[in-house]
Amino acid sequence: MSKPLEGRVAVVTGASRGIGRAIAEELARRGAKVVVNYHRSAEAAAQVVAAIEAEGGQATPIQADVSDFAQAQVLVKAAIDAYGRLDILVNNAGVTRDRLILMMKEEDWDTVIRVDLKSLFNTCKAAARTMVRQRYGRIINISSVVGIAGQGGQTNYAAAKAGVIGFTKSLAKELGPRGITVNAVAPGLIPTDLTADLPEELRQKALEQTPLRRAGRAEEIAYAVAFLASEEAAFITGVVLPVDGGLVMSG
Ligand code: NAP
Repeated sequence: MSKPLEGRVAVVTGASRGIGRAIAEELARRGAKVVVNYHRSAEAAAQVVAAIEAEGGQATPIQADVSDFAQAQVLVKAAIDAYGRLDILVNNAGVTRDRLILMMKEEDWDTVIRVDLKSLFNTCKAAARTMVRQRYGRIINISSVVGIAGQGGQTNYAAAKAGVIGFTKSLAKELGPRGITVNAVAPGLIPTDLTADLPEELRQKALEQTPLRRAGRAEEIAYAVAFLASEEAAFITGVVLPVDGGLVMSG
């Protein structure tokens, strides 16, 4: 396979498992040096790095809670210190705390907003300085179809993921003149640890509403992210790309 991202340096947040892992592996396969960020799963992150190295790629695991402003600054600085530049930032880390509003605790709200939305402010603020200096950057934020269409039991998650879309469009306008693109990918249903506890009836309903009649694979999100990180996507900014088998247009 050709290595179109050779010479590029990427940070993928929440890359120890699920979609983030697939994104880190795909970017590395295309030649990027990848920082594999994780929060708690040190062993899983080490396995991702080992898998990338086994395929001839380069990767480094860096622990940081990206919902914490100071830790996000340290993560970005460590990435730049390790590889000398920063070209691609993928904001993928995310959590859910699903409850109906009458049962939702303030902590459930705050945690999801901090991890799924505030983390973007934290990492982008740190990365933008270097990308502006380079006059080059690709920022890709992982939203969700839930941020577009809403979902009962997920007011916190939907608000965060809709916030990701507003953040993406605004930052695209700010950073476009500096040669930096900012886009979002909105996955549909992808079997990972995050969706493992989804009630069976909700899973069935989502599949019935998906024209392609199946769940997606983490790799299919990674391909979309890798495209948005590529030279071919140089004229695309501020978009929200659903990768959902058609779910969001039908739901
Ligand atoms: P996952 O399998 O649960 O993995 C979540 C990842 O985020 C893990 O690597 C975890 O790290 C990391 N993480 C969590 N909190 C963090 C923090 N504070 N700082 C740094 N890393 C943190 O989830 P997933 O399904 O792959 O989801 C990835 C992204 O896609 C999320 O933004 C999610 O909202 C979005 N998404 C997923 C689906 C789906 O159907 N799966 C659909 C739409 C959107 P540790 O392992 O160290 O805890």
